[in-house]
Amino acid sequence: MKAPILVINCGSSSIKFALVDQPPGAPRISGIAERLGSHDACLKLEEEHGNRRDISLPRATHALALKTILDHLGDQRPVGIGHRVVHGGERFTCATLLDDTVVRTIRQTVSLAPLHNPANLDGITATRRLFEHLPQVAVFDTAFHQTLPAHAYRYAIPEDLYQRHGIRRYGFHGSSHAYVSERLAEVSERGHGGWLIAHLGNGCSATAVWEGESQDTSMGMTPLEGLVMGTRSGDVDPGLHLHLARQLGMSLESIDLLLNQKSGLLGVSGLTNDMRELEQAAGAGHPGATLAIEVFCYRLAKTLAGLACALPRVDGIAFTGGIGENSSLIRARTLGHLKALGVHLDSAANSALARGSEGAIHDASESGSPEIRVIPTDEEGYIASQTRALITRLALADRSEEAV
Ligand code: AMP
Repeated sequence: MKAPILVINCGSSSIKFALVDQPPGAPRISGIAERLGSHDACLKLEEEHGNRRDISLPRATHALALKTILDHLGDQRPVGIGHRVVHGGERFTCATLLDDTVVRTIRQTVSLAPLHNPANLDGITATRRLFEHLPQVAVFDTAFHQTLPAHAYRYAIPEDLYQRHGIRRYGFHGSSHAYVSERLAEVSERGHGGWLIAHLGNGCSATAVWEGESQDTSMGMTPLEGLVMGTRSGDVDPGLHLHLARQLGMSLESIDLLLNQKSGLLGVSGLTNDMRELEQAAGAGHPGATLAIEVFCYRLAKTLAGLACALPRVDGIAFTGGIGENSSLIRARTLGHLKALGVHLDSAANSALARGSEGAIHDASESGSPEIRVIPTDEEGYIASQTRALITRLALADRSEEAV
C-alpha cells in the first residue's frame, strides 16, 4: 500500500474528495460535501467497505467541511494533497507544486474559467491554511492538451485576440484522457500509438492522442464546444447568438443559460439529460428521446472521424465516462457511423461487457482494423499519481541538494 494522497475538487458550494492509496479501481474512502454555506449542508461519505454515511453540517464553510473530512479519514493521514484545477491557461503544462506565486498565476487565468477557477482557488486557499505542513499540488484539466499544435488550437479569428487575450482552444477532461491513454498503452499490444478517446459523461469530449500526447480535442476555450452533452449544446453556428439576440431579444446571459443548461440531450429530448432514462424512453417509443440519442451518436462519430486527421494512423477507439463505460447501445450506434474508419465491432462482446468494466469489444478476426476498447476512467487516481510523483521527485531533489 502506498502513502495516501487526498484528492480534492472544490466547487463554489461543494467539495468532492477521495483518499487514494491503492491502485486504480480499488475501493477508497471518498465523498462529497454539498450545499456548503446553507442550512442543509451535508457531508456524504463512502467508506472503503461500501458503507455510506451522511453527516449534517449546517452552514458549514469550505474550511469546516475540510476539517470534518480529515477527522473521518481515521488514522490514514495523507502525505500530500492533489487539487483538481479546471483551467491552467498556457502557463501550466503539467502538475505543479502550489506556493504563493503559483496561486497568484492561477488567479490570472480566472477570466478564462470564471465559474470554475475561483471555486478551485477558494478550496486551495482553505486547504493550504488548514494543512500548512503538507505539500499540495495543482493538477489542471487543460494541461494534457498543451501539446496541441497551433493549427489545432488556434481559432480562425484575428491574431490579436489570441496574443492579447489568450483566446484559443484549451481542451478539458485532461486527467481522464491522460489516464485512459496511459491505461491503453498498458493493455493494448498496439501500445501508445494513435488513439481516439471519447469521454462521455454529463460533460463529453473526444481527444486524438498520438504516442501519449494530445494532438487535438473537441472542447475549446470553454467546455461548451464540441460534442452534444447532457445539458450543453456543443457546437452550434456562431451566428446563432446574434440571431437569438436580434430575433428573440435574448440577453447574453439567457443565451449562455440556454446553451449550457437547457440544451444537449435535455434540449433535444425535451425529457431529461440522463442517458439511462433516455434509453428507456426511446425503447418505449418516445420520439424526442430517440432523436436525442441519434443526434448524440452521429455528432460523436463525426467528431471522432474529424479527429482522425490529427493521427498518422488510428490504432483504436476508446470509450470512457458514465455513458462510454456503461452504454453498449451508444457505443454500437456511434461505431455504426464509423465504417469509413474500418472499425469492426464485436456486437456480442459489446453487449456482454459488464457495466463499468474494462474490455476489448472489436472483432479480433479483422486483424488490421482499429481496436475498440472500454476503459473505466479514474481521474482521482490520475491526480493522486501525478501528485505523488511530483512530491517524490521534489523530495529526491532536496536530498540530492543536501548531498552536494
Ligand atoms: P458521469 O458524468 O461520468 O458520471 O456520467 C453520467 C452519465 O452517464 C449520465 O448521463 C448517466 O445517465 C450515464 N449512465 C450511467 N450509467 C448508465 C447506463 N447503465 N446506461 C446508460 N447511461 C448511463
